[in-house]
Amino acid sequence: MYVYVNSGLVRKEDARVSVFDHGFLYGDGIYETMRVYEGVVFMIDEHFARLQRSADLIKLAIVKDANQLKAALYETLAANSLKGAYVRITVSRGYGPIGLDPDLCKEATLVIIAEDMKDYPKSYYEKGIQVIIARTKRNLSEALNPQIKSLNFLNNILAKMEAKEKDAYESLMLNVLGHITEGTISNVFFYRDGVLCTPSTACGILDGITRQVILTLAVREGFTVKEGKFTVEDIAAAQEVFLTNTTMEVMPVNRVDEIRYDVGEVARTLRKAYRNEVRAYVAAIKGRGPSLWGYE
Ligand code: PMP
Repeated sequence: MYVYVNSGLVRKEDARVSVFDHGFLYGDGIYETMRVYEGVVFMIDEHFARLQRSADLIKLAIVKDANQLKAALYETLAANSLKGAYVRITVSRGYGPIGLDPDLCKEATLVIIAEDMKDYPKSYYEKGIQVIIARTKRNLSEALNPQIKSLNFLNNILAKMEAKEKDAYESLMLNVLGHITEGTISNVFFYRDGVLCTPSTACGILDGITRQVILTLAVREGFTVKEGKFTVEDIAAAQEVFLTNTTMEVMPVNRVDEIRYDVGEVARTLRKAYRNEVRAYVAAIKGRGPSLWGYE
């Protein structure tokens, strides 16, 4: 397995970053996770735009421009002969002396890891997963904006630990006002009395790329959609709940704390629509010629 570190590929065993890297010392950096289908990175431009937004929000210069970054990403996929993959681009503040000042680091560190996509168990999609409402609150937007996809993930890790303690798969976090925000690595949707609901970005969430695709597809499928502020009571009154993210796509939820839900038609319909959208995207990219996705 090969990993891309700064300017080129190295063997996994040789892939190293300094202990003085501010990503390691302070969590000062950003990342993106993408999914690759048949050698095509799904929604690559949207992921790159979000990476750039995260970089801008912490005033980090990514060294490579988007085209160079794309080339490096496809080089990594090709070196590992990957077609169905998970890819993570990490950009940290870089190597520098101890101290919080970002100017201590001359250049950002870039790491691209691509691995075979390990699908979630089929039973998760058929039976749904269990979720809890975490005691840990989501970071306040005014303190650490969840729209920065940062290396500083302790907020989410603390909530994930709560889920694990209760044998649940994911935690939903509330904001300090008691509104539902998102999961630790996912966005949440629920279907209640004919309306598909999801917390708005104003609640303090990472605006997931899958979330946006699902919102678009839901409208296309004829659903009434509402982005807004919702409470635990709203979710308790729902008929269906599901999560979205790049790797799990559309994941039905069968339980939130003590309340049980059926895996229903809404999640099934949108999961199918999402899969069709992926297929159409892959076909469109491939239709433009092999140079765009680097290899056959
Ligand atoms: N919220 C958080 C906190 C996440 O880490 C993720 C995963 N990137 C998401 C939502 C879902 O985002 P996406 O659909 O872009 O994977």
